[in-house]
Amino acid sequence: MALEEYKRKRRFEETPEPPPKVAKKAGNRFVVQKHDATRLHYDFRLEMEGVLKSWAVPKGPSLDPADKRLAMHVEDHPVSYFDFEGNIPENNYGAGTVIVWDVGTWQPLSPVAVDGKYKPGTEAEAAAMLAKGDLKFRLNGKRLKGDFALVKMKGRRPGSKGNEWLLIKKHDDQVVEGYDIEEFDDSVLSGRNLEEVAGDSGSREWKSRPTGRGTLKAAWLADADARIDKEKAGANEQKKNASPPKAQRTKTQRTLRSKKKIA
Ligand code: MN
Repeated sequence: MALEEYKRKRRFEETPEPPPKVAKKAGNRFVVQKHDATRLHYDFRLEMEGVLKSWAVPKGPSLDPADKRLAMHVEDHPVSYFDFEGNIPENNYGAGTVIVWDVGTWQPLSPVAVDGKYKPGTEAEAAAMLAKGDLKFRLNGKRLKGDFALVKMKGRRPGSKGNEWLLIKKHDDQVVEGYDIEEFDDSVLSGRNLEEVAGDSGSREWKSRPTGRGTLKAAWLADADARIDKEKAGANEQKKNASPPKAQRTKTQRTLRSKKKIA
């Protein structure tokens, strides 16, 4: 089953991640999530066959063809993971903060180039290329654009699980030599960086687009929310006593303005 491993690794009463559900509709989106787990990495996901085919890329994707980025093939994720941004709680699989680093659409390319150029391919070709371990595709994202290949490594390193691929930018007019991923550290969805999402209890209440996820909100979340609400109420009470109402209003306005800017 497509999402068995995804399901097996997670406790859905604790994590705010979406449940394992295979999508019926076909789609051609891609997402790159920046994930501050035990080791910081980027998760590269292509919507395919009702799931997100996924690779964990320690150094992240690059627009420079000279960078051949190690990409560990990991378990399929549900399509609703597409806009997941938030905090996976401690002691859970993948614990840490996730932001959406890039989104867009992708299309498969024909397996063989003609005069050095790749033409759009079919879904069947994509499935065959994936199975063969040499998937060529074109991205149209906010940050990643142009032709890429995901190539399965043949020679196994000692101790490897055989899940090592390389993510490589192809030569085209979207190449950026010396591409530095760290110049882009914010979410393309919320404008927030990892630290801002990590420090924001509100982001834990993330809900996937299919409605009804609110009911799955875990007990630890409710507890944490209640505690934070209580702390906030206490802090407001103290502020009210300490400073005149006018100064308080100014600070609130400032907070609202800065929130608006990054939203
Ligand atoms: Mn990850």
